[in-house]
Amino acid sequence: MPVKVIAIIGAGYCGTLTAVHILRQNPVNRVRVVLVEQHSRPGRGLAYRTWDDNFLLNVPAGNMSALADDPEHFVRFCQNIDPAFNAASFISRRLYGDYLELTLREEITRHRETVIETIHDEAIAIHHSGNDAYQIDLRNGASICAHQIVLALGHFPPLPPAPVTEFYKTPAYINNPWDSSALERILGNAPVALLGMGLTALDVLFRLTSSSDTRKIYLISRRGLCPQPHRFHPKAPVVVGFPHYLKNLPPTAKAYCRALRLEIERNAVRGGDWRDIINALRPHSPEIWRRFSVKERWKFLSHLVAYWDIHRHRLAPSAHLRLSDMLKSGQAEMIAGYVRNYKTHAGQVSVEISERHTGRIRCVDVRHVVNCTGPNFNLACITSPLIVQLRSEGYLRQDANRLGIEVNEHYQLIDCRGDAAKNLFYVGPMLKARFWEAIAVPELRIHIQALAKILK
Ligand SMILES: Cc1cc2nc3c(=O)[nH]c(=O)nc-3n(C[C@H](O)[C@H](O)[C@H](O)COP(=O)(O)OP(=O)(O)OC[C@H]3O[C@@H](n4cnc5c(N)ncnc54)[C@H](O)[C@@H]3O)c2cc1C
Repeated sequence: MPVKVIAIIGAGYCGTLTAVHILRQNPVNRVRVVLVEQHSRPGRGLAYRTWDDNFLLNVPAGNMSALADDPEHFVRFCQNIDPAFNAASFISRRLYGDYLELTLREEITRHRETVIETIHDEAIAIHHSGNDAYQIDLRNGASICAHQIVLALGHFPPLPPAPVTEFYKTPAYINNPWDSSALERILGNAPVALLGMGLTALDVLFRLTSSSDTRKIYLISRRGLCPQPHRFHPKAPVVVGFPHYLKNLPPTAKAYCRALRLEIERNAVRGGDWRDIINALRPHSPEIWRRFSVKERWKFLSHLVAYWDIHRHRLAPSAHLRLSDMLKSGQAEMIAGYVRNYKTHAGQVSVEISERHTGRIRCVDVRHVVNCTGPNFNLACITSPLIVQLRSEGYLRQDANRLGIEVNEHYQLIDCRGDAAKNLFYVGPMLKARFWEAIAVPELRIHIQALAKILK
């Protein structure tokens, strides 16, 4: 029987887990899996390649199993290290990377008959090579032939926010908040401004203050909203049906938002916590997203997403306490407003901000500015050679709300003519375009498992 080659480009969370599921689902030797990874070891994608235990998962261990069909899998891994860990613990992202590496290693050992190969290189182009097969070109000049390809490329660095100025070309500006070597250039105690106030900004805040408890950090965001904390003993999410309070509503962002707020208020009167309402809503986000028209999605993205994000993307309680202490002491300061201009003089940057609530112009003097406004989902602005080639040759296309890559229900790429590619698949945060809620482990693990079934 001929061997089928499945190439997975990107061996972070999604790529590694796709390989794990292929191994689990292919007991006989009919598949060769090739993992192509440009940066690190399989399992150590952007989120989990940190070696610093200060960075905690923002989801309790009980909801971080990599395997959708084995919810206790991660908790068991943690308890092997320290029996005191439990489902409510917030574990470090470093340990989660260890867990993903181990999960892959164990599966490889269990299925020695399936060949799995890791290639340390960047994929820069994909072409049809006849008979429904593809050729993948690598940066080093080599190429790989594959029958099926899974793109698991992860996040792309943020776009520089408006106003785009010459300042962005200076070394005082760091566009990629995940570039550790760039952050290491920020030495000493000099003040720093972070653009954005989400979980990425808080990562950078903790990183820049871990070696200096006097360095001043300004967190500048349009609305000045801060991610909310998890509870110290978070309840396990309970799977319930589609929320009754959203049934029979017109499918508009405004109607759904109003109903959600009322339900949270009613729940509070009963002594309940808003987090339980958000948790119960989360699995139904794809269905709600499906009901919204492109216009309603834009309305949500323009007016409501910032409020949704701070309730949905929560912080580990200890991280929230750390942030609160820094805000109280004045080491960190939140400024709601938008940046109008940057002026550089003598190694300093003066950031000119129009304050949201007063309209006053305020200037803060810093040594560096770091862009923490979130990943870029706009394919037209991504400079990765692979994305540029796939887009310009029509292998993939952007969704109407510029949230990611268009796929059908089988995760097959939709090409520029609107046709599904038979053997070209995507899994990762750009599934947001189709499902909205698809960027974190609890959702991605379900998509990965479903995709692996399709690949077999
Ligand atoms: C900082 C951070 C913290 C997070 N914390 C949590 C959390 O606590 N809980 C949670 O549920 N979710 C969390 N998430 C979200 C989620 O877990 C990740 O986004 C998820 O890991 C995405 O997996 P991925 O495989 O798509 O991306 P990644 O894991 O980043 O993997 C993508 C890989 O593809 C490689 N690659 C890209 N292009 C190419 C190419 N052309 N050729 C070869 N290789 C390529 C990259 O080098 C990378 O290793 C976090 C995300 C981030 C960014």
